[in-house]
Amino acid sequence: MIPPQNSNGLQIEALPAFVDNYLWLIHDGVDAIVVDPGDAVPASRALQERGLQLRAILLTHHHPVHVGGASTLKAATGAQVYGPAAEADKIGGLHHLLSDGDNVDLSAPLLQLEVLEIPGHTLGHIAYHAAQPAPGLLFCGDTLFSAGCGRLFEGSPQQMLTSLQRLAALPASTAVYCGHEYTLANLQFAQTVEPDNAEIKAALHEIRAWRDDNRPSLPSRIERERRINPFLRSTEPVVRAAVMRHAALKGDNATEVFAALRQWKDGYRPPSV
Ligand SMILES: [Zn+2]
Repeated sequence: MIPPQNSNGLQIEALPAFVDNYLWLIHDGVDAIVVDPGDAVPASRALQERGLQLRAILLTHHHPVHVGGASTLKAATGAQVYGPAAEADKIGGLHHLLSDGDNVDLSAPLLQLEVLEIPGHTLGHIAYHAAQPAPGLLFCGDTLFSAGCGRLFEGSPQQMLTSLQRLAALPASTAVYCGHEYTLANLQFAQTVEPDNAEIKAALHEIRAWRDDNRPSLPSRIERERRINPFLRSTEPVVRAAVMRHAALKGDNATEVFAALRQWKDGYRPPSV
């Protein structure tokens, strides 16, 4: 369904860390970028094994499993560290403080990224979007997951809904690189919300087989998320009706429906298979 990203000579690899995190390694065979290195060890090992020079570290938000390895990598390699200006004091050690609309122009490897502020999971959370190489890349940390979204630790449901709508409006074929391997559990919840959605059912079947082979479920695509992700579908009549029924909502206010959907997921435990 989704081939590993490999266009214009740019390789993007998932480096597993902790229980279910991914560090994303982007490289051209010589120079490298790492996104959200919560742990320096898998990044250092990959750089060494592939003979790569780390040039940039991109951080999406301040949670330790996303930033914990940054200072070690910075000290070992001299890489430039980019992160959200709004969380600079929590993260520490940033060379480049980023806000909405800023561009990160890297020459080695060649990659231009635009910064999107997407508060909700944390208040200063940012994403990095590259229009090139085609079909476009999105590194969205813990805001958008495949078939799910991050918990609302700091922001409001309205903020998260707006952030997700912004990501959903990116070009349909944009490849989506998330911070965690949560897809299977998310799809089980998605199926609970939309039992008759054939695409969710097919995705569950597919991703279960991939995970049995220890293969990452990511990247996803924006167009796929629009079809299977209940948090991008909370204004669809079928999802709205399911949430209103579950939460016994009287009105169909979009923010209240989204908030109730997020609460439903917070209390949801996938059936053990
Ligand atoms: Zn987080």
